[in-house]
Amino acid sequence: MSELICPKCGRSSDEIEFIEAFCVDCYPAKVKCPRKLEIEQCRKCGKIRIRGEWIPFSRERISEYVVSKCRGEFDGAEYLTDMGVVRFAIQGKKHVERYVEVELKGTMCTYCSRISGGYFEGIIQLRGNPKRIEKYANMLADKLEKRTFITKAEDKHGGLDIFVGSSKAVVELISELRLKADITRKLVGVKHGKKLYRTTFLIRL
Ligand SMILES: [Zn+2]
Ligand SMILES: [Zn+2]
Repeated sequence: MSELICPKCGRSSDEIEFIEAFCVDCYPAKVKCPRKLEIEQCRKCGKIRIRGEWIPFSRERISEYVVSKCRGEFDGAEYLTDMGVVRFAIQGKKHVERYVEVELKGTMCTYCSRISGGYFEGIIQLRGNPKRIEKYANMLADKLEKRTFITKAEDKHGGLDIFVGSSKAVVELISELRLKADITRKLVGVKHGKKLYRTTFLIRL
Protein backbone atom coordinates (compact mmCIF):
# COMPACT_ATOMS: atom_id res chain seq x y z
CA MET A 1 0.00 0.00 0.00
CA SER A 2 1.36 3.39 -0.89
CA GLU A 3 2.02 5.94 1.83
CA LEU A 4 -0.83 8.20 2.89
CA ILE A 5 -0.50 11.63 4.43
CA CYS A 6 -3.21 12.83 6.80
CA PRO A 7 -4.62 16.10 5.40
CA LYS A 8 -5.28 17.39 8.92
CA CYS A 9 -2.15 16.66 10.92
CA GLY A 10 0.33 15.78 8.21
CA ARG A 11 1.39 12.44 9.70
CA SER A 12 2.14 9.56 7.41
CA SER A 13 0.59 6.09 7.26
CA ASP A 14 4.06 4.77 8.14
CA GLU A 15 3.73 6.22 11.65
CA ILE A 16 0.03 5.85 12.40
CA GLU A 17 -2.98 3.81 11.37
CA PHE A 18 -5.35 5.28 8.83
CA ILE A 19 -9.09 5.14 8.27
CA GLU A 20 -9.75 6.07 4.67
CA ALA A 21 -7.89 9.33 3.92
CA PHE A 22 -7.30 10.34 7.56
CA CYS A 23 -5.17 9.10 10.42
CA VAL A 24 -7.21 7.44 13.20
CA ASP A 25 -6.91 10.50 15.42
CA CYS A 26 -8.19 12.91 12.82
CA TYR A 27 -10.75 10.70 11.12
CA PRO A 28 -14.01 12.61 11.53
CA ALA A 29 -16.45 10.32 13.31
CA LYS A 30 -19.85 10.80 11.79
CA VAL A 31 -22.10 10.05 14.74
CA LYS A 32 -25.07 11.99 16.03
CA CYS A 33 -26.88 11.57 19.33
CA PRO A 34 -29.74 13.34 20.99
CA ARG A 35 -28.51 15.51 23.87
CA LYS A 36 -31.18 14.31 26.20
CA LEU A 37 -33.65 11.42 26.40
CA GLU A 38 -36.49 10.93 28.81
CA ILE A 39 -37.52 7.49 29.99
CA GLU A 40 -40.57 7.01 32.17
CA GLN A 41 -40.08 5.01 35.33
CA CYS A 42 -42.77 3.71 37.67
CA ARG A 43 -42.42 5.17 41.14
CA LYS A 44 -43.96 2.11 42.69
CA CYS A 45 -42.39 -0.92 41.03
CA GLY A 46 -39.40 0.63 39.24
CA LYS A 47 -40.36 -0.61 35.79
CA ILE A 48 -39.32 1.52 32.82
CA ARG A 49 -41.21 2.28 29.64
CA ILE A 50 -39.34 1.56 26.43
CA ARG A 51 -41.18 2.09 23.15
CA GLY A 52 -44.51 2.11 24.89
CA GLU A 53 -43.89 -1.13 26.75
CA TRP A 54 -43.39 -1.43 30.50
CA ILE A 55 -40.43 -3.67 31.32
CA PRO A 56 -38.38 -4.42 34.43
CA PHE A 57 -35.54 -1.94 34.96
CA SER A 58 -32.57 -2.98 32.85
CA ARG A 59 -29.35 -1.15 32.01
CA GLU A 60 -28.99 -3.23 28.85
CA ARG A 61 -32.39 -2.17 27.54
CA ILE A 62 -31.69 1.48 28.36
CA SER A 63 -28.37 1.17 26.52
CA GLU A 64 -30.05 -0.43 23.49
CA TYR A 65 -32.67 2.30 23.45
CA VAL A 66 -30.16 5.16 23.68
CA VAL A 67 -28.01 3.62 20.93
CA SER A 68 -31.10 3.18 18.72
CA LYS A 69 -31.58 6.95 18.90
CA CYS A 70 -28.05 7.64 17.61
CA ARG A 71 -27.23 7.90 13.94
CA GLY A 72 -24.06 7.63 11.94
CA GLU A 73 -21.37 5.28 10.74
CA PHE A 74 -20.20 2.97 13.50
CA ASP A 75 -19.63 -0.75 14.04
CA GLY A 76 -21.13 -0.90 17.47
CA ALA A 77 -22.06 1.25 20.40
CA GLU A 78 -22.85 0.99 24.05
CA TYR A 79 -24.35 3.43 26.52
CA LEU A 80 -22.37 3.59 29.73
CA THR A 81 -25.04 4.51 32.27
CA ASP A 82 -22.60 5.51 35.02
CA MET A 83 -20.78 7.98 32.82
CA GLY A 84 -23.74 9.04 30.73
CA VAL A 85 -21.86 8.57 27.47
CA VAL A 86 -22.36 6.49 24.36
CA ARG A 87 -19.15 4.80 23.32
CA PHE A 88 -18.94 4.10 19.60
CA ALA A 89 -16.54 1.73 17.88
CA ILE A 90 -15.52 3.20 14.53
CA GLN A 91 -14.23 0.91 11.79
CA GLY A 92 -12.67 -1.38 14.38
CA LYS A 93 -9.86 1.11 14.99
CA LYS A 94 -11.14 3.93 17.08
CA HIS A 95 -13.57 4.79 19.85
CA VAL A 96 -15.45 8.02 20.24
CA GLU A 97 -17.75 9.07 23.03
CA ARG A 98 -20.79 11.30 23.03
CA TYR A 99 -22.60 12.60 26.06
CA VAL A 100 -26.31 11.76 26.31
CA GLU A 101 -28.32 12.70 29.35
CA VAL A 102 -30.95 10.14 30.27
CA GLU A 103 -33.60 11.43 32.59
CA LEU A 104 -35.78 8.91 34.41
CA LYS A 105 -39.15 10.54 34.78
CA GLY A 106 -41.17 9.29 37.73
CA THR A 107 -44.66 8.17 36.86
CA MET A 108 -46.93 5.18 37.42
CA CYS A 109 -46.99 2.10 35.18
CA THR A 110 -50.22 0.65 33.81
CA TYR A 111 -50.31 -2.15 36.35
CA CYS A 112 -49.60 -0.05 39.41
CA SER A 113 -52.09 2.62 38.41
CA ARG A 114 -54.75 -0.05 37.88
CA ILE A 115 -54.04 -1.60 41.26
CA SER A 116 -54.16 1.74 43.01
CA GLY A 117 -57.35 2.55 41.13
CA GLY A 118 -58.85 -0.70 42.36
CA TYR A 119 -59.16 -2.01 38.81
CA PHE A 120 -60.14 -5.62 38.25
CA GLU A 121 -61.69 -7.67 35.46
CA GLY A 122 -62.31 -10.94 37.19
CA ILE A 123 -63.41 -12.27 40.56
CA ILE A 124 -62.47 -15.77 41.60
CA GLN A 125 -64.92 -17.03 44.19
CA LEU A 126 -63.55 -19.96 46.14
CA ARG A 127 -66.20 -21.82 48.11
CA GLY A 128 -66.24 -25.02 50.13
CA ASN A 129 -63.78 -26.60 52.52
CA PRO A 130 -61.81 -23.85 54.34
CA LYS A 131 -58.56 -25.86 54.32
CA ARG A 132 -58.78 -26.47 50.60
CA ILE A 133 -59.73 -22.84 50.01
CA GLU A 134 -56.60 -21.68 51.80
CA LYS A 135 -54.41 -24.10 49.88
CA TYR A 136 -55.87 -23.14 46.50
CA ALA A 137 -55.90 -19.41 47.30
CA ASN A 138 -52.13 -19.44 47.91
CA MET A 139 -51.43 -21.52 44.86
CA LEU A 140 -53.64 -19.42 42.58
CA ALA A 141 -52.22 -16.16 43.93
CA ASP A 142 -48.65 -17.32 43.24
CA LYS A 143 -49.45 -18.25 39.68
CA LEU A 144 -51.62 -15.22 38.97
CA GLU A 145 -49.01 -12.73 40.23
CA LYS A 146 -46.76 -13.96 37.42
CA ARG A 147 -49.31 -13.16 34.69
CA THR A 148 -51.38 -10.28 36.01
CA PHE A 149 -52.03 -8.62 39.35
CA ILE A 150 -54.31 -9.18 42.29
CA THR A 151 -56.21 -6.11 43.38
CA LYS A 152 -57.48 -7.50 46.67
CA ALA A 153 -58.84 -10.58 48.40
CA GLU A 154 -61.91 -10.56 50.61
CA ASP A 155 -63.20 -13.11 53.07
CA LYS A 156 -66.78 -13.91 52.21
CA HIS A 157 -69.33 -15.97 54.05
CA GLY A 158 -68.39 -19.52 53.12
CA GLY A 159 -65.24 -18.65 51.22
CA LEU A 160 -62.91 -16.14 49.65
CA ASP A 161 -63.13 -13.70 46.74
CA ILE A 162 -59.98 -12.83 44.82
CA PHE A 163 -60.12 -9.74 42.56
CA VAL A 164 -57.85 -10.12 39.55
CA GLY A 165 -56.57 -7.70 36.90
CA SER A 166 -57.08 -9.92 33.86
CA SER A 167 -59.92 -12.35 33.17
CA LYS A 168 -57.97 -13.94 30.36
CA ALA A 169 -55.21 -14.88 32.80
CA VAL A 170 -57.77 -16.58 35.03
CA VAL A 171 -59.31 -18.51 32.12
CA GLU A 172 -55.87 -19.75 31.07
CA LEU A 173 -54.90 -20.73 34.57
CA ILE A 174 -58.05 -22.66 35.46
CA SER A 175 -57.87 -24.57 32.22
CA GLU A 176 -54.20 -25.41 32.88
CA LEU A 177 -55.08 -26.64 36.34
CA ARG A 178 -58.20 -28.40 35.04
CA LEU A 179 -60.35 -26.70 37.63
CA LYS A 180 -64.08 -26.62 37.13
CA ALA A 181 -65.57 -23.16 37.33
CA ASP A 182 -69.01 -21.66 36.82
CA ILE A 183 -68.36 -18.59 34.74
CA THR A 184 -70.65 -15.61 34.55
CA ARG A 185 -69.91 -12.47 32.59
CA LYS A 186 -71.47 -9.12 33.21
CA LEU A 187 -71.25 -5.96 31.13
CA VAL A 188 -70.12 -3.20 33.49
CA GLY A 189 -69.61 -0.29 31.13
CA VAL A 190 -67.97 1.10 28.02
CA LYS A 191 -64.57 2.73 27.90
CA HIS A 192 -63.09 4.31 24.75
CA GLY A 193 -65.76 2.54 22.70
CA LYS A 194 -64.84 -0.86 24.14
CA LYS A 195 -67.27 -2.89 26.18
CA LEU A 196 -65.98 -3.72 29.63
CA TYR A 197 -66.91 -7.00 31.19
CA ARG A 198 -66.45 -8.34 34.65
CA THR A 199 -66.22 -12.10 34.89
CA THR A 200 -66.93 -14.17 37.96
CA PHE A 201 -65.36 -17.61 38.32
CA LEU A 202 -67.07 -19.69 40.97
CA ILE A 203 -64.91 -22.62 42.01
CA ARG A 204 -66.21 -25.19 44.47
CA LEU A 205 -63.53 -26.98 46.42
ZN1 LIG B 1 -4.23 13.12 11.40
ZN1 LIG C 1 -45.43 -0.04 38.46
